[in-house]
Amino acid sequence: MRVGVLAVQGDFAEHVAVIRGLGHDPVEVRLPDDLQGLDGLIMPGGESTTFSRLMDLFRLKMPIAGLAGDGMPLWGTCAGLIMMAREITEPDPVPMGLMDIGLVRNGYGRQVDSFEEDLDVPALGAEPFHAIFIRAPVISNVGDEVETLARLSDGSPVAVRQGRMLGTAFHPELTRDRRFHEYFLSDVFRA
Ligand code: GLN
Repeated sequence: MRVGVLAVQGDFAEHVAVIRGLGHDPVEVRLPDDLQGLDGLIMPGGESTTFSRLMDLFRLKMPIAGLAGDGMPLWGTCAGLIMMAREITEPDPVPMGLMDIGLVRNGYGRQVDSFEEDLDVPALGAEPFHAIFIRAPVISNVGDEVETLARLSDGSPVAVRQGRMLGTAFHPELTRDRRFHEYFLSDVFRA
């Protein structure tokens, strides 16, 4: 499958390597033309304000929103998820409003802005998923159509799905566990 990875900024190279390692064809997306013929798209971690500016500059928001609206599988990790949200608590960036979730950027606070936790993710099987959070957003509300796939021990949702859209507040591309990528390429693609 041809899987695009938004490559304007952030840790796209890690996603590209995982997609290639799983035997698929990763495509680095920098310009609208790169979106042609994609079977799905990943928006990586990075800095969402920078993403937003570069996506405006390269005119990527409208075509990506259009493809997601037409049912192309889309997965955002951390800053990528921020771009997909319906609303965030601050004026910048303006999110794309694709997924019915509300977020607080950097909501886990400065002193604990990076942490790791083993998550119970029933959709991936019994083995816990070791999740790395780096200045992650807090998912503060989820709409009725949104399924929560994993929560922190304090109960806050950190992996969410809405049809063919997947969102993780953490970074599966930074661990060796490939199960979230496999889940995206199988279950989410098939939905
Ligand atoms: N805190 C960053 C933002 O607001 C996201 C961090 C990340 O993607 N690891 O965009």
